[in-house]
Amino acid sequence: MKNIILTGDRPTGRLHVGHYVGSLKQRVLLQNEGNYESMFILIADIQALTDNAGNPQKVRDNIIEVMLDYLAVGLDPKKVTFCLQSQISALSELTMYYMNLVTLPRVLRNPTVKSEIKMRGFDDNEEGIPVGFATYPISQAADITAFKANLIPVGDDQEPMIEQTREIVRSFNRTYNTNCLVECKSFLPTNNICMRLPGTDNAKMSKSLNNCIYLSDEDDVIKSKVNSIKSFPRLLNEPGVLDGNIAFIYLDAFSTNDHFKKYYPEFNNLNELKAAYQKGGIGDGTIKKFLCNVMIDTIRPIREKRKELSKDIKSILDILEDGTKKANEYANKTLFEVKNAMGINYDENFKKEQIEKYS
Ligand code: ATP
Ligand code: MG
Repeated sequence: MKNIILTGDRPTGRLHVGHYVGSLKQRVLLQNEGNYESMFILIADIQALTDNAGNPQKVRDNIIEVMLDYLAVGLDPKKVTFCLQSQISALSELTMYYMNLVTLPRVLRNPTVKSEIKMRGFDDNEEGIPVGFATYPISQAADITAFKANLIPVGDDQEPMIEQTREIVRSFNRTYNTNCLVECKSFLPTNNICMRLPGTDNAKMSKSLNNCIYLSDEDDVIKSKVNSIKSFPRLLNEPGVLDGNIAFIYLDAFSTNDHFKKYYPEFNNLNELKAAYQKGGIGDGTIKKFLCNVMIDTIRPIREKRKELSKDIKSILDILEDGTKKANEYANKTLFEVKNAMGINYDENFKKEQIEKYS
């Protein structure tokens, strides 16, 4: 069976280097391998509203920003289908049906949702947790299953969502005695660090936390963000510590041997630099200078392509519109099967059956 790939992002801001190593690079890799039946990329605006209900303009404005980031990293509309969640009504319908298969304690046990509730202060705010926010993993299950996706390229914060989706699939297929829904698995980066890249402040890099290096950042902004990374105070000759060292975490995620040749020829690769740093004698300023070059080298071509793409917004809107049309066809087909399995397709057979029953 060929893969059906689905993944997505919330239009809550421009995409950052955490998205790049955690998910976007994997998507481009899968796209270029071409070993799939279809690949969908969903801009999850409904999900973005679950914690931005009072700020729909933010969500509206970021749809194009996210599309620009997608195309700038090399995702190709000829090979993947881009679509907009709120314009595929089958997704909302599926969510309603799946909600009956999940309990409240199960929803609140989700470790990612738990930490996001804390992060957003919903737990100590008098108004409490928006139901839509607590239950967004169910809507994610609808997104995945609507396209019968089996492979989901994501960072490891999404693993609990994938598990929840599998549980819903099993429960649905068992309850309604069908096999119309398909089980999925995540496709994680092979480099552990890239599964959950920290922000410049050590928490997970996240649009909502203001700790991001964006794929659209200018060189001077990248420089000042890299320079703001905290380092452990020490004398130059004292051994450098790698544990919890954000600059080295970024080097692990982004530096290549070519970067060493170009910007730090004293060393052939990161392992050699790490060994020397741990012995002492290399200052954190030197490391940050090298890291600046690495980050600028990584981001500059993406940023430049993004600028070029932004000159023709109409084409980008057309790509999203066409993709959303195609996505509707897929999702409506699944919704039809789901309703059939549940016996809630009130068609001619239903009419006949009821008329006969009362005649
Ligand atoms: P928000 O703060 O609005 O939740 P976010 O920055 O967490 O935004 P999402 O749109 O929630 O971004 O995540 C989209 C995808 O990017 C998911 O697959 C997620 O796993 C991945 N991702 C997000 N942040 C990181 C990160 N710091 N490291 C690796 N992957 C990440
Ligand atoms: Mg998130």
